[in-house]
Amino acid sequence: MPWEDVEPGLFEEVHNYARASGNTLEEAFRHWATYYQAEFRNLLTWLCRPNVHPPELKAQARRFLTLCVHDERWDIEATDDVSFDESGDRGDPIFYRKRVEYDLIAAPIAKFIFGQMERFQDDDVDLYEALPVCLCERGDCGKFMLPQRRRRKRYCSNLCCALVHQQAKSPEEWRDYMWLHRLESGPLGVVRSKLNRQAVRHRLREIEAHWPRLAAKVRNIRTPCRKRSRTSDGRKAVSCADQGTSHE
Ligand SMILES: [Zn+2]
Repeated sequence: MPWEDVEPGLFEEVHNYARASGNTLEEAFRHWATYYQAEFRNLLTWLCRPNVHPPELKAQARRFLTLCVHDERWDIEATDDVSFDESGDRGDPIFYRKRVEYDLIAAPIAKFIFGQMERFQDDDVDLYEALPVCLCERGDCGKFMLPQRRRRKRYCSNLCCALVHQQAKSPEEWRDYMWLHRLESGPLGVVRSKLNRQAVRHRLREIEAHWPRLAAKVRNIRTPCRKRSRTSDGRKAVSCADQGTSHE
């Protein structure tokens, strides 16, 4: 919706900033959207790891939520011309229309998140159902994810999964890990053909004996039919077998 069509009273901070700065309403909206990014990041980080982060993060999130939730104003619209009809056939099956206004563009989103927190606390709703968001487990990444299955997805991407493995391994182990990864990433027929080579089987035995953390990956490569599959959108599933999970 163009900003000119937004009702007066909605997102007053955008109008105020546009007036004060001489910018357009779109530019003023972008200004505030950028401003709130850090606040939302704090809030989501705290929700994903409430016991890990320092108390200041929770204090910031609490202030932000309080500010946004109290920003909501609502009123009952005058409905003199509407006839109530329970069935909805001849009139409106409602008693009133609720008109909601906010000054802050962050308020509707923060209020939604707060509502989901309350659903988890007050209703019998699973945490994941109420707040389906988690942080990539690679420390330097910081991306949020919307996992389809909680506890299965640990990293936001193949890259993060690989980087974590790289950091945990010596250069020699990492070299063997990447060799296994390239081997298992090939087409099924090619993998089977390679497994028939004595040199490949020999290296697999050596890796298995040398690096206990890679043993599971070796076993998965030896049984490619069971492990190697395609996802529903046709992409090849990448295993992180030595972690006992997949990032996907
Ligand atoms: Zn990541």
